[in-house]
Amino acid sequence: MQTSRSRPSIRKSIGASLDFKSDLGPYPHRLNFYDTPPQDDVTVEDFETFAIDRLRVLAEIESSLIRNRTPEELRLVTLAQCKKYLPLSANTASGIDRFAERRKDHISHFVLRLAFCRSEELRRRLVKAETTLFKIRYADDDTRERQEFLDSIKLNWEKVDDEEMKDAHIKAGLQAQADYLKRQDYLTDTFYKTPWTQVPELVERRRVFLWNGWAYVPSREQSTLVFQEFQTRLEHTLEMTAKALPRLDEDDRLMPVLEHLSRGFLAGVPSEYVGPEDDFGETITADMIDDLALKHFPLCMRNLHDRLRKDRHLKHFGRLQYTLFLKALGVSVEEAVVFWRKAYGGTMTDDKFNKEYKYNIRHSYGLEGKRANYPAKSCQTILTSNQPGPTESHGCPFRHFSPDNLQLTLSATFGIPAAEQTEIMAAVKGQHYHIACTRVFELTHAKYGVKKGEGLGTANGATETVSHPNRYAARSRELEKEKLEKTKAKPAVEVKLDGEDVVMA
Ligand code: SF4
Repeated sequence: MQTSRSRPSIRKSIGASLDFKSDLGPYPHRLNFYDTPPQDDVTVEDFETFAIDRLRVLAEIESSLIRNRTPEELRLVTLAQCKKYLPLSANTASGIDRFAERRKDHISHFVLRLAFCRSEELRRRLVKAETTLFKIRYADDDTRERQEFLDSIKLNWEKVDDEEMKDAHIKAGLQAQADYLKRQDYLTDTFYKTPWTQVPELVERRRVFLWNGWAYVPSREQSTLVFQEFQTRLEHTLEMTAKALPRLDEDDRLMPVLEHLSRGFLAGVPSEYVGPEDDFGETITADMIDDLALKHFPLCMRNLHDRLRKDRHLKHFGRLQYTLFLKALGVSVEEAVVFWRKAYGGTMTDDKFNKEYKYNIRHSYGLEGKRANYPAKSCQTILTSNQPGPTESHGCPFRHFSPDNLQLTLSATFGIPAAEQTEIMAAVKGQHYHIACTRVFELTHAKYGVKKGEGLGTANGATETVSHPNRYAARSRELEKEKLEKTKAKPAVEVKLDGEDVVMA
């Protein structure tokens, strides 16, 4: 795979060099084992956008697995995400550029391999999410196309021939297996044999007969063999990619993209949050911030707000994180200056505040220095940059607090009882910090009708998880506004008194 700045004539160049089975070039099947890297030129733009789209699908899968969605829910959510970001149409589909779909799927898989091969943890998570995606697509595929795909790949198993089936040991072993499974039709199946280490899942579930290092797998379990093969190959190729990666280090176009993508698994998909869609019809004044913090801020911002109120001070990165958040919330620079001045109170003179702090606030608003429009920090940035020291308050509490401190804070700040914290702490332990934060959102917004698993909202079967503190606050405010509007719009109650209609609002 080569990257280029301009969009190349890919179909033409591939067509010239590869064996065409159809106009789909190297992609005759929907399913792909990704054995061969993309051979054509890829623009840097496609390199990144394709990978981000795939990451959206994988992030939803990972989130569903952590949140114990049922297999059917997982299937529906994944297919909905695939339809939106990574569609793969059947060979019979017409009027669709199937080549472009399959190329995107192929390239995005290889980009994520590059991004996630660097640590064992990232490799493990990618393998799990990719294998789940493959399983769902496999089950969803057309039967004939799936068989054609299986016929096209070289798998490490062989059909057990009639002669071998007559062997006394094998016959007795398969009979014992049939008795164990209580399935007398078991012996009528076709069997494949493969080294038993290739099918640990079937061995663990005692679904196969083992003999001389071979596992005898009935054809009805063939999908398990396929999934195991997919997983084994991916694990192996990820390790190979990790060894080859240092050679990419000098590429200053790709490394930042890969760094950015690999953070996506730690902090969810990079946020697209650009600002509130709704200004909620009010100007936020400095005096309103206490109330907003109490009702709508995520834990990172509540923590900064509470520290500021308690200590009457925040260190540099805390001030920066909080100021940019308030700016994106809709607090004007004038109100921000009033807010911070009051917050510091008598701990400093007006002179000191004006010289040292007011400038920084105005700088964050792009009114001083480089006059850059600094965006509010996303979860990804907060989670992965400027790790807080022991006396600092910025960062994400789900990542940067000790488990004991986090549990105490969840109880004290949001009143979340210990029994409800188990799932949150399990997500934190698995480093799924944004999922933990999403669960807190659900619990603290149950009063607005938010249910477990709904996150910040659902659209097209996919659940929005927390990826930006300002998105958290905006959604929280939306829910409050919706509830207020519903209360106002309640129909008038008609009461009849002695034949006269009296309307009560
Ligand atoms: S997950 Fe994001 S919004 Fe939630 S506390 Fe952490 S940084 Fe803040």
